[in-house]
Amino acid sequence: MRKILWWLILVMISSQLAAISIEIKEEGLRYEIEEKEIDGINYVSIRDLSPILRCINKQERHDQRLYLHIYGETFIFLEDSSYYSYKIESYNMHYPLQRIAADYYLPVVFLSEHIPLHFAGDAEYHIGTLQIKKPVDHSVQVIVLDPGHGGKDPGAVGKKLKAQEKDINLAVALKLKQLLENELGVKVLMTRSDDRFVSLGDRTRFANEHKADLFISIHANASKSSSSCGAETYYLATAMTSDARAVEALENQVVELYEGGASARSKYDDLDFILSDLSQTEHLESSNDLASNVQQNLIAGSKTYDRGVKQANFYVLRGAFMPSVLIELGFISNPEEERLLVNDEYQQRLARTIFEGIKRFKYHYDRIRNT
Ligand SMILES: [Zn+2]
Repeated sequence: MRKILWWLILVMISSQLAAISIEIKEEGLRYEIEEKEIDGINYVSIRDLSPILRCINKQERHDQRLYLHIYGETFIFLEDSSYYSYKIESYNMHYPLQRIAADYYLPVVFLSEHIPLHFAGDAEYHIGTLQIKKPVDHSVQVIVLDPGHGGKDPGAVGKKLKAQEKDINLAVALKLKQLLENELGVKVLMTRSDDRFVSLGDRTRFANEHKADLFISIHANASKSSSSCGAETYYLATAMTSDARAVEALENQVVELYEGGASARSKYDDLDFILSDLSQTEHLESSNDLASNVQQNLIAGSKTYDRGVKQANFYVLRGAFMPSVLIELGFISNPEEERLLVNDEYQQRLARTIFEGIKRFKYHYDRIRNT
């Protein structure tokens, strides 16, 4: 008797957990999305939907809008409204877009009726299953973070606290990794996640092998003058200013110091030159954009002195087949900045501001590449 009762309860629970299936035609793949009942109507969450439809979404909390890009087309929804706009027309779903905590929900009818309407030929709906054409996806999915130096190579060393650059770079990179994974849902790989030596060539090789979409190298700066201060972001090109050349020399010297002297250096200079030149030329504009977004947010969020976006010929960026930047967080040689750079809260703030820059870049970049 008790068994039958349990069985009845189970049947009741499972009948309430309705789900809609999405089938990718070319792959024969089938995904189940759980439906959620809100005000008596079945909804699906954008969080569940986005990875399957490979849609890019931007949530503008301040004007309560949700932008959804599906197959390169833009849908604009308004919180609590059943209307959305698509190709300058407005459409009515009859049930409003809902927001619960951080997630938006669309009524199931959007999948069963509206998607098939807008993408006739590529999408069909039959009893509980939406069949769709395989969505193309060129959006940023894998990011390689590269904490500079490590192991036998401490990088620059602070004058006052004797802080080592390698530790600051790693701490900020690990915090940034958390944010990118949790809030942007991308896969983050690290060229090192502990205190070990990795050659400059191995860092970019790692990014290429893992088909990374972005490569972000994190460093702290040093200068003979203890008053030098501020943050700057670089992308690979011929160094334009003497300041940039100085930083370039500082970051490239690891090859001579720790990778086998002058012969190792000439290997980087000759062998990889043509290849690396080609690999980054294609991404010059994107790298510049990424650097600008990172730098802008870094300065706005940390209130540090703005040294701007610069170009230099860093070995570590050479040969990377993806948009790549190198960030100098601040000057470890400046006692005031050294104190900040080792501070956990300041490191978290730096990570947050870099994250915001990457997020903004990703949104524009994904749209361009998916249209
Ligand atoms: Zn460095």
